[in-house]
Amino acid sequence: MELLDGKKVSNDIKDEIAMAVSDMKARGEKAPHLAAVIVGNDGASLTYVGSKVRSCERVGFESTLLRLPATTSEVELLKEIKKLNENPEIDGFIVQLPLPKQIDTQSVLMAIDPDKDVDGFHPMNFGKMALDMSTFIPATPFGILELLERYKVDTKGKHTVVIGRSHIVGRPMSILMGRKGWPGNSTVTLTHSHTKNITQIISQADIVISALGVPNFLKAEMVKEGAVVIDVGITRVADDSLEKGYYITGDVDFENVSKKASHITPVPGGVGPMTIAMLLKNTLLARERHRAKN
Ligand code: NAP
Repeated sequence: MELLDGKKVSNDIKDEIAMAVSDMKARGEKAPHLAAVIVGNDGASLTYVGSKVRSCERVGFESTLLRLPATTSEVELLKEIKKLNENPEIDGFIVQLPLPKQIDTQSVLMAIDPDKDVDGFHPMNFGKMALDMSTFIPATPFGILELLERYKVDTKGKHTVVIGRSHIVGRPMSILMGRKGWPGNSTVTLTHSHTKNITQIISQADIVISALGVPNFLKAEMVKEGAVVIDVGITRVADDSLEKGYYITGDVDFENVSKKASHITPVPGGVGPMTIAMLLKNTLLARERHRAKN
């Protein structure tokens, strides 16, 4: 079994980005600038945004964190997005999800300038991705592709089963694994909570990408011998015996599934750190595109 070590690969990618940034600065160019907007005080969201901002510092990017109260209205948030769209100093920005109930997520994502949409959630970027055009690929699926590529995992002609059809992970992942190219050229089955015989479908998979957020969902008896297993799930499980009061777990029974898998991602240290690295990569791409335009 080979561990797909997202922590190591993401550090390699950050080193590569840091080098590109230092070359930019040496040429007298401005460093990429990523902004993040967070509405409310959700603990997990604050942790994610915090590590995104810290990662910016690590690679030499400029970063701006905009914290808005949980009571922010949709109109107020849209005003802030307009300012970020119009600010020439900002190369790319993200709005951390989930948003409070009074705000329509789709309206907010639609308001982001597609050229600054480094999360790749705008319909224009999502459409370009589906059409194999150059665009910002959503960071988590992008990170999974990068892991498969760097570990030279063969995906051609394989049966990939994606569990979960969210707009940010499962759905784009299913499109990307089925595209012409590598990683890709898979025969893809996209499963969700209404899928019948899901256990049987998963047992036929050469590659399983699990993105549902149910701890211990994927058990050893569901997985084919030699399967590649990508665990996207991140769930906080309460545990009073720990200082922080919880631990992080994925969707996969790692201990037992790893005995059957040919390749597997751990949680933590697998897809999670890759997501942040690919957000930085998208921001670097945004900077390069803005430079080419101006
Ligand atoms: P989501 O929006 O909650 O969607 C979950 C998906 O799983 C839905 O499509 C749902 O089906 C499906 N599902 C739920 N229970 C199921 C079951 N028993 N059998 C089959 N399918 C089932 O999730 P998400 O935003 O994609 O996140 C999924 C997990 O990945 C979460 O743990 C999240 O924290 C994690 N995540 C990790 C990263 C990372 O960087 N590693 C990034 C994003 C998300 P329906 O559509 O039918 O409801």
